Amino acid sequence: MQPVLQSCADQPIDSLENTVRPTAASGIRRWSGVRIAFAGAGVLILTGCAAPPGPDLSPRITADDARTHVAYLASDEMEGRMTASRGSHRAGRYIAQRLTDAGVAPAGDADTYFQAFPYQGRHGRNVIGMLPPTNGGDEYVLIGAHYDHIGFGEIESRASEDERDSIHNGADDNASGVAVVLELAAAYGAERSPDQAPRRGLIFALWSGEEVGVLGSTHFAANPCVPIEQIVAYLNFDMVGHLKDNTLVVQGVGSSPGWGRWLERRNIPAGFNLRTQEDPYQPTDIIALYPKGVPVLGFYTGLNDLYNTPHDDPDTLNYEGIERIASFAKSIIDSAAGDVARLAYFEMPMEKATSPDRPVSTGTIPDYASGDVPGMRISGVRKGGPAEQAGIQEGDIIVEFDGHKIGDATDYQEALAGAKPDVTVDIAVLRDGERLVLKITPVGR
Ligand SMILES: [Zn+2]
Repeated sequence: MQPVLQSCADQPIDSLENTVRPTAASGIRRWSGVRIAFAGAGVLILTGCAAPPGPDLSPRITADDARTHVAYLASDEMEGRMTASRGSHRAGRYIAQRLTDAGVAPAGDADTYFQAFPYQGRHGRNVIGMLPPTNGGDEYVLIGAHYDHIGFGEIESRASEDERDSIHNGADDNASGVAVVLELAAAYGAERSPDQAPRRGLIFALWSGEEVGVLGSTHFAANPCVPIEQIVAYLNFDMVGHLKDNTLVVQGVGSSPGWGRWLERRNIPAGFNLRTQEDPYQPTDIIALYPKGVPVLGFYTGLNDLYNTPHDDPDTLNYEGIERIASFAKSIIDSAAGDVARLAYFEMPMEKATSPDRPVSTGTIPDYASGDVPGMRISGVRKGGPAEQAGIQEGDIIVEFDGHKIGDATDYQEALAGAKPDVTVDIAVLRDGERLVLKITPVGR
């Protein structure tokens, strides 16, 4: 007999047949490290793949569980989770199994966890589950994160030339956010009991198609599993794996007059250095839900040098930080789900945002190790990008962009959100203590 090592026994990637359905409480573990099967005339096939973890996960929010999720989702076997790829379907099945284990019911197409949307002649798949309301009502809080990434660097890769076709594992972007949502699902699933306090239902959504233009969440917003008016709030987690200096960015706070007070109150025990941003028009999945009348919040720990490179790997993340962010978010979800009054929606004009999808790019690489220097220090510029063409150099500190004072990288992102592609503006940098004003022409992404 000839042993044949075969990759994970994947079924056709563009079918919804291989759906995971909820199983009995004991849980049928679909996963096993090595399965042995006999195929045809005595050919032994070893279907070897990293055993997706599961049975040992706890029903509480823990750093260890988050690490387990990220280790699997950001392993090479997921091949960078490009939308509609084999690797992303593998990741989707893992996520569906975790929702099953949490006791979360399927809320995708045809009684499955998967919601398909068209992508380049194939299908991407959202993974969606729900816990029904316990207050007899029909309202829900939506909790989500995108699980797709950029595959082998097909789009917007920042890999160096010699690493161009490497797998981009996307541990921070966005296995970290998926880990938060799966931990919340496990915690809420375990809390459910007949004597539980009344509250709204919870929908857990893991989106695909984000990197290629927020396709999955946009599809959901047009085809939601419950009428969109019944969704009272959306909390999004995109890149939450690099909590540093205790600083947590929360975007979209302007989408409801209620958010600010809640965040402040809930942050007293949590103790983050919170950086709130009003603008809900961000290049992540909140932009799909906000225009539908849903108050949104986006949790984010900031950019870093590993972003969209093949080095965004599991061993670089701050898992204690992920645990703290998930616990903080849970306290806010408790309010959104449990408060009698529904959170108010605030409609903010899109005047500052140039396009509903992506902000412009200037090709700068921020130096996050620069500490307390006011301004945004640059650790490099992308070859041929606008910053290089403007004459910006490594070590420069950006202090002003198109009239906006830049105190740090977050200010810079906000300034970019108001910039238009192909329109030249002034950019002021400090170089060796001297202020230089240069001309830069951002490009569209
Ligand atoms: Zn992302």
